[in-house]
Amino acid sequence: MPALHMMSHTGQAITLPHDLLQKLASHLRGALLHQESEEYEHARQVWNGLINKHPTLIACCHDQNDVITAVNFARTHNLLLAIRGGGHSVAGHSTCDGGMVIDLSRMNHVSVDQAARVVHVEGGATLADMDQATQAAGLVVPAGAVSDTGIAGLTLGGGIGWLRNLWGLTCDNLLSADVVTADGQCITASHTEHPDLFWALRGAGGNFGVVTRFTFRAYPLKPDVWFTAVYHDGRHMKEVLQFYREYSATAPDEISTATVCGQIPPGSKDFPPELHGRPYVMIVGMYAGSVEKGQQAMQPLRDFRQPLIDFSKATTYLEAQQYFDEDYPAGELRYYWKSLFLAELTDDAIDTLVDHASRQPSPLSGIEILYSGGAVARQDDDACAFAGRKASFLIFVESNWKETRDNDANIAWPCNLISDLQKGGEGSFYLNFSSAFEEQESTMRHNYGKKYQKLMAIKKRYDPTNLFRLNQNIKPG
Ligand SMILES: Cc1cc2nc3c(=O)[nH]c(=O)nc-3n(C[C@H](O)[C@H](O)[C@H](O)COP(=O)(O)OP(=O)(O)OC[C@H]3O[C@@H](n4cnc5c(N)ncnc54)[C@H](O)[C@@H]3O)c2cc1C
Repeated sequence: MPALHMMSHTGQAITLPHDLLQKLASHLRGALLHQESEEYEHARQVWNGLINKHPTLIACCHDQNDVITAVNFARTHNLLLAIRGGGHSVAGHSTCDGGMVIDLSRMNHVSVDQAARVVHVEGGATLADMDQATQAAGLVVPAGAVSDTGIAGLTLGGGIGWLRNLWGLTCDNLLSADVVTADGQCITASHTEHPDLFWALRGAGGNFGVVTRFTFRAYPLKPDVWFTAVYHDGRHMKEVLQFYREYSATAPDEISTATVCGQIPPGSKDFPPELHGRPYVMIVGMYAGSVEKGQQAMQPLRDFRQPLIDFSKATTYLEAQQYFDEDYPAGELRYYWKSLFLAELTDDAIDTLVDHASRQPSPLSGIEILYSGGAVARQDDDACAFAGRKASFLIFVESNWKETRDNDANIAWPCNLISDLQKGGEGSFYLNFSSAFEEQESTMRHNYGKKYQKLMAIKKRYDPTNLFRLNQNIKPG
């Protein structure tokens, strides 16, 4: 390996000599990649095609010792450091230019204790890794809904999926986490060990260390579930959203749903040609329980109005988890997402959504409105760092497009929509659906409100030099 020119976390140039790098490589079980390595080009890429960065070193960790070695190296040499789990950070936080990436994607083992209903998940596993292992034992852990997303980023930011109203957020079901902190120590955080760190890990992102293993509570769920997917003409968006608001308020906790507004993709083989390119508003969701009960409980969603098309059906939980997979190809599209938690979905908010939906610059983009209540809302707001628990609706605006020349319009669209919705400055954003725009400290302070001081103190305790800074960053207090 040649000597390498790198970037420190303060932006200074550093040269690391050959023998130092050789020594690091010899201490790692996994590969240490640099720009001349064969696997480098593939390894440097992340999911969002808008992010095109070139880290100087990528430490492909195989176990916790590799993570400790890499963290110690980065700290000792003041390197700019990014941590990568599933690589799905919309803001591109899991890579950097000129620094070092600690890549956990090979650490994707999941083990299930069926009798105790406890699941251990390594820090680089994806939703698919966890869902397959848990369903093989007749269990589930509440998580998100696109199967190649990383468990690590998802859990540390919250974790919102089809089981939320019944069993809560992913972070609500975290029992403990093994964390490599900035000083290279490995500690376990739980309700009884390092409870302050455990509190912060559940909702404030990757600020506090590298999680090498998550331990979750799991629940029994049979493989077959009822899945609803009803598409209406986009011209009826207002009416559908008003109906969705009323329906959600009284729906049982087993039901978790979203309303999605977008355009039927031209050329799609799933829709008849006469619908291609048409704006739609869709109600989609899952019943966490028996197929029969689900079909019955979700029937009002199918009876409302005459839909354009109704794809509702009995399916497996694993398929429901992949329903949207094809819409988010890795590396092929550019993505810029923003979000806002709203206490209520008022008629004014619906009018704003309808107005902006008609001006969406890319046919691949969309707006999602998610009702969140049940187990999420019943949990005490102070139970963990997560911001937005008491809001009933999450508005999620996703710009997805192909060409660089369209960047400006597609970045402006979600920003304008959210700023119009946020008239009085109220509402927090969802860490996991945020692009780089939200990074300023003032926005983070606003987002976490009175929790922010506590987060700064915990950051100071576990990462006083802000080694873990490539995230929605909390400055050491
Ligand atoms: C297609 C798609 C679908 C999604 N669907 C949902 C959904 O249904 N529900 C939902 O809640 N969210 C969803 N998300 C958002 C998702 O939760 C976030 O993008 C999340 O950050 C992804 O985690 P990751 O590990 O893949 O990302 P990465 O890019 O690897 O990391 C994200 C952040 O976490 C940090 N990090 C990663 N691994 C570790 C670790 N082991 N220890 C400490 N810090 C770490 C990184 O440094 C970075 O700051 C979706 C995202 C995408 C792209």
